[in-house]
Amino acid sequence: MGLTGSRPADLPTLPAHTDPGTERIMDSGLLHELSHAFDGPFHFLLPHRFDANLAAFRAALDDAGVAGHVYYAKKANKAAVWAERCAAHGAGVDVASVPELRAALGHGVRGEHIVVTGPAKNDALLRLAVLHGCLVAVDALDELDLLTTLALTGTVRPARLLLRRLPPAQPHSRFGMTAGEADTALDRCVRAGDAVRMEGFSFHLSGYATRPRADLAAQLVDACLRARELGLRADRISIGGGFAVDYSSGGHWHAFLAAQRPEHYHAHKAFDADGFYPYHSPVAGADALRTVLGTVPDGGRTTLAARLKETGTLLLAEPGRALLDGAGASVFRVQGVKERDGYHVLTVDGTSLSLSEQWFNSEYLPDPYLVTRDGRARGDAAHPACVGGATCLESDLLTWRKVPFPARPRVGDLLVYPNTAGYQMDSNESPFHGLPLPPKVVVDRPDAARPRWRLDRATAR
Ligand SMILES: *Cc1c(COP(=O)(O)O)cnc(C)c1O
Repeated sequence: MGLTGSRPADLPTLPAHTDPGTERIMDSGLLHELSHAFDGPFHFLLPHRFDANLAAFRAALDDAGVAGHVYYAKKANKAAVWAERCAAHGAGVDVASVPELRAALGHGVRGEHIVVTGPAKNDALLRLAVLHGCLVAVDALDELDLLTTLALTGTVRPARLLLRRLPPAQPHSRFGMTAGEADTALDRCVRAGDAVRMEGFSFHLSGYATRPRADLAAQLVDACLRARELGLRADRISIGGGFAVDYSSGGHWHAFLAAQRPEHYHAHKAFDADGFYPYHSPVAGADALRTVLGTVPDGGRTTLAARLKETGTLLLAEPGRALLDGAGASVFRVQGVKERDGYHVLTVDGTSLSLSEQWFNSEYLPDPYLVTRDGRARGDAAHPACVGGATCLESDLLTWRKVPFPARPRVGDLLVYPNTAGYQMDSNESPFHGLPLPPKVVVDRPDAARPRWRLDRATAR
């Protein structure tokens, strides 16, 4: 029918790094069973990958001889299982709202292991944070005043806080305090006496470069030393998140970028390549933390790790995406197959709201897998198809790109988008058209002879 493999060489692909657990699940038959049971799209989560990522971050600190804590940035994925894993491992959670704080506490994370970030935190959030001994990353002077007032009235605990700095290299950020504001804040912390415990400074940078993180971290170590002279505790800094995830090999990624052009996409849609997430990063995840710690900061003589050690400063990090690397995938059922000029237009049983990159005018690029009842489709054929959602919106496409699938997709086949736990699966989900939110399924041991599953506790209502 003219759609089979005539131009496979033309169409760029971006294979994700393989993951044995995900492959096993795709070939086990479990996904068709679950798709039938839920009668709609769903996500599966792999907590053993989260555990391994967390262990790697902690090892990066240990190997550098640096004392510190890792906090999972909860906004990257709403599932309960991540907070449960943090609680089990004595790791922290980074929250930015009352529901997130409540969830972290409810899943067993101790208040002292929670850092509260986000701008202009309201009264209720600050009050809960003080009551539970959480660390508050203060974003502005008025917030500091509110926090101090709360701590002075009514509670027995001091307010633990960091002062969040506006990164000098990102002066247009709407977050954090300027140098002048931070000085004023220090004054106010001194005057607040025992009501507050000023524990240090924090930042969170956009982008994934390691050097700016090492440079700013070193400046904040110096700021801690100055704060200590004022009698403040100032014994830790938080360098936030932004540790890159490596989705694909460098060879594939660079070949993809060089080859891709509008005719490779449905409706000749043109994406700005600068707007794509960098799907390959030579230094990613815990290795990025290692690199930050091993960097000699601008103007310094020793590595950041050495500087932290010689000044007795703890290093806090708040990875979101990087802790979720490989820890989940999203599954959609093909509900319709149409033919267009030389390619298929697939409609799946979910929406692009479950793949949030589209909502940033971009596309989630790692190739989805086509999974038939017999497991993954394989072979050298190329059956190009884009993937639309089951909505009435012209622009609701999960994948605009014509993906060259190894078999002709049929109704009832599944599409599995790999490595979606970090920000993709649930950041933007809504019950559009009254469709239910896709449930999340936890697979604790994917290498068991028959993978067993359970519903994530946050979705098992
Ligand atoms: C979003 C955020 C993070 C996590 O960022 P990732 O890129 O997911 O690692 C950490 N800290 C703060 C303050 C954030 O806003």
